[in-house]
Amino acid sequence: MSEVTDVKEIFGEDVFNDTVMKERLPKKIYQELRKVIDEGAELSLQVADVVANEMKDWAVEKGATHYTHWFQPLTGTTAEKHDSFISAPKENGKVLLEFSGKELIKGEPDASSFPSGGLRATFEARGYTAWDITSPAFVKRTAVGATLCIPTAFCSYTGEALDKKTPLLRSMEAINTQALRLLKLFGNTTSKRVTPSVGSEQEYFLVDRDLFLKRKDLVFTGRTLFGAMPPKGQELDDHYFGTIKERIGAFMKDLNEELWKLGIPAKTQHNEVAPAQHELAPIYAEANIATDQNQLTMEIMKRVAYKHGLMCLIHEKPFAGVNGSGKHNNWSITTDDGINLLDPGKTPHENKQFLLVLTAVMSAVDKHAALLRESAASPGNDHRLGANEAPPAIISIFLGDQLEDVVEQLVNKGDATSSIKAGKMGMGVSTIPQFRKDATDRNRTSPFAFTGNKFEFRSVGSSASVASPNVVLNTIVAEAFSDICDELEKADDFDLAVHDLIKKLATEHERIIFNGDGYADDWVVEAERRGLPNMKTTVDAIPALTTDQTIKLFEKFGVFSKAELESRTEVAYEAYAKEINIEARAMIDIAGKQIVPSVVKAVNKLADSLNSVKAAVPTANVSTQASLLEETSSLLADTENALVALKKVLADVPTAVSAQELATYFKDDVIKAMDELRAPVDKLEMIVDKELWPMPSYGDLLFEV
Ligand code: ADP
Ligand code: MG
Repeated sequence: MSEVTDVKEIFGEDVFNDTVMKERLPKKIYQELRKVIDEGAELSLQVADVVANEMKDWAVEKGATHYTHWFQPLTGTTAEKHDSFISAPKENGKVLLEFSGKELIKGEPDASSFPSGGLRATFEARGYTAWDITSPAFVKRTAVGATLCIPTAFCSYTGEALDKKTPLLRSMEAINTQALRLLKLFGNTTSKRVTPSVGSEQEYFLVDRDLFLKRKDLVFTGRTLFGAMPPKGQELDDHYFGTIKERIGAFMKDLNEELWKLGIPAKTQHNEVAPAQHELAPIYAEANIATDQNQLTMEIMKRVAYKHGLMCLIHEKPFAGVNGSGKHNNWSITTDDGINLLDPGKTPHENKQFLLVLTAVMSAVDKHAALLRESAASPGNDHRLGANEAPPAIISIFLGDQLEDVVEQLVNKGDATSSIKAGKMGMGVSTIPQFRKDATDRNRTSPFAFTGNKFEFRSVGSSASVASPNVVLNTIVAEAFSDICDELEKADDFDLAVHDLIKKLATEHERIIFNGDGYADDWVVEAERRGLPNMKTTVDAIPALTTDQTIKLFEKFGVFSKAELESRTEVAYEAYAKEINIEARAMIDIAGKQIVPSVVKAVNKLADSLNSVKAAVPTANVSTQASLLEETSSLLADTENALVALKKVLADVPTAVSAQELATYFKDDVIKAMDELRAPVDKLEMIVDKELWPMPSYGDLLFEV
């Protein structure tokens, strides 16, 4: 029996949260700090000094020796540089532990070694991290000891955002302002703040660490670059929600405890569709906190896995041929007094405010579908989107029967007069209680689905930061609200204007609604007919970041300047080219040093055995050995040719071209050459003696956990 965990006791114990602040800070300081957190008032250095000192004492009691400004550069992961609390040694040779308000508020990491997409030249090294006071500080425990982590935003000397968090915070302000404006028009006088909430469901794989280390492709790139399908894949659907194996269970238990200590409300855990695949979902939180927590969750998953002799794979497509991993981004907008703007109530057709918000979201997603698609784009995710395991690359909205019916009424009759009601559910067994069904079924193939009182953006990749998709969601909906308010504020008859706007928006943007099967080929044709964008790869999607429409959107709400968007575009193209380049080089390395030599051995062994049988029994039937030898040799030659070709493609990478042209070369030429090398190797794996194959197979990786 494993020991019992006192969840209530450990939850949040390593977080400098409101309770700790209230307990430890002088009352006046606490009140001033709260004001800054809640209302965005200015923080004085004097208050910061007191807070910093108390934070330090608290962290030291928790065993911390260092602090760090924890930030989220454009690499998509997190960054930290640790400084210990020690002061210069005194005359008596002793040190003090110190932490000032200045050190709390501002850090100065070298900005030149983080991607900036041309915003910073290498010689312009100065960058700043600034305390994000709305996300609580925490103590992280790793092999280096305990470290006080201060969530921060990261910007250049000239104030441009160099991170994922700054635009997220800006977008949260935008939607707050515009949503409050809208609520006020509807007579709301009580709500003071509107915040987007996010719950991100995290999928991941766990494999044995010893096996992992024998796969250089996993080590270098996070995904397998070679690998034939095992005899058993996911066709039996026996892994999904299956009983959790003991070793995985032990991992999950530790993981939950670590997350809870950091105040991350880990809630749901289960086996996913693919063998060795799992999911963890937390309870949703405010968008910036949820983003921080998801970054931490991924990091802690990796660390805890390591302790259990496992490796956690967060890549979108670790294994070809079995389902990859995503991160459903559940999104809603709520007021500080608990009103969820996406709650339809029991009779949505009567809920004018909801219908206006709904049609606003429809218009936002329709207008900016390409941008939303881009926000989920990455080379890893290119393997999933549109591959019948994740939503297609075409953005559409699933509303479900009830709301689709309401929208149809609006479009066709100009008014919605009824809402489909959910029936009772009886299972035909008297001992099973009856219950009320949801008004709407689910649709797992839709990229953007309404699920009761939130939208679920399902295109996001498992390794991605959820910052980018939420920056886009917050800002496009802020824009839609703003346009609506512009109209309503000048209307003479408010009710009539609302009525007309709902009908107008529903009619103009009905094309974005799709309740059918997103995996079907017909949908691709139908979507094209409707004029919806279908951008299959990251390289196709990136231009959406700098269209006139996008620049206008982000500049209007102060979320990104044109220069920031251009820099992010550069970074995205560069990251794409670099990632594929690493994969191609890893393939060359593995094929050249491991696969070809092993297959040569296999060929020799076959030839030797063929010859020795012939020598011993000249009349023996050696057709099996002969044909195997023939096939293996021929595939070996194909492999060698493809290897030479891939090397040539890499040697010919164009120089002095734009980042876009370079990325396009990798997308078209390099990936093709990689696919051509993989094909004969995967065939070889099926016929070469397992003893001679230089790395663990898919079967070993997926089933030996
Ligand atoms: P599903 O509907 O996908 O089965 P769950 O209820 O398990 O969903 O929720 C999935 C995720 O959505 C969880 O992280 C959950 O906290 C989050 N979630 C639930 N309600 C909301 C909401 N109103 N806003 C944002 N996220 C939410
Ligand atoms: Mg879900």
